[in-house]
Amino acid sequence: MDRNDERVCEACGLLYDWDPVIADGSHFCCDACARGQECTCPEHAEAHHVRAMGSRSGASILGATQGEL
Ligand SMILES: [Zn+2]
Ligand SMILES: [Zn+2]
Repeated sequence: MDRNDERVCEACGLLYDWDPVIADGSHFCCDACARGQECTCPEHAEAHHVRAMGSRSGASILGATQGEL
């Protein structure tokens, strides 16, 4: 049961929907992850919020009351 338009990076766990970078049979969200480096995707920083709120691509919610650190 795969979702066609959503993948999970095997390195950083980021949910992404663009073409994966494939290395050693694993799928990564970006070149950096494929090389074992730190993820460079802008989405990565917001991934936590996306997961929590169930919505992607929104205005960055700065100043919102989230005691999540
Ligand atoms: Zn990644
Ligand atoms: Zn990435």
